[in-house]
Amino acid sequence: MRVVLLGPPGAGKGTQAQIIAGRMSVPAISTGDIFRANVSGRTELGRQAKAYMDAGDLVPDEITVAMVTDRLAEPDAKAGFLLDGFPRTIAQAEQLRDSLAELGHQLDRCLELVVDEDELVRRLSGRRMLVDGEWVQRDDDKPETVRHRLEVYREQTAPLSGFYRQAGLLSQIDAIGEIDEVTDRALTALGFTDDGAAGAPAAS
Ligand code: ADP
Repeated sequence: MRVVLLGPPGAGKGTQAQIIAGRMSVPAISTGDIFRANVSGRTELGRQAKAYMDAGDLVPDEITVAMVTDRLAEPDAKAGFLLDGFPRTIAQAEQLRDSLAELGHQLDRCLELVVDEDELVRRLSGRRMLVDGEWVQRDDDKPETVRHRLEVYREQTAPLSGFYRQAGLLSQIDAIGEIDEVTDRALTALGFTDDGAAGAPAAS
């Protein structure tokens, strides 16, 4: 199954992506994580991406699309994947559609996590990550950058909701609530039952 997870910064995409991908037995592919790993590993890709990320801007499509295309060509993504943080622009979504089509594949679903903006600002400003045993704030979770990231989301990424609705692929779920409640809504929207089978009718 090939799924895109859509939702604003702070919607809980990373958390849900890990859990849902585990249940689907496909890799969770997060462009944000790949970029951050490249920044801390001081690679050329990391060097190119860092300034955009620190400012809360999107890394240019050219760089991002090439990176995702490489990742999707790896053997573990052949049978399916869950994309977290990609696509983030209509151009990225079109490129994803076209490169999947070249391989004779297509996306099965876009799952959108819906959370209102007040809740997002609250979550992002309080978010900390464990790095080398210490809780630190991500540089781009500072209040000014958070506001800018939400603007970038509204302008460049939110239109993907309409793009995938038109393609007949969109499912939206309310992403406010306990983590496992949101996971249940997500799995239901994706047609997963308790035994992990996709699309099978729910056990009676
Ligand atoms: P969040 O969803 O919380 O904003 P991510 O970890 O997904 O965080 O992304 C962090 C940063 O990485 C983004 O602000 C952006 O600079 C860059 N990035 C991630 N995915 C993409 C993408 N698909 N296109 C462009 N830039 C991206």
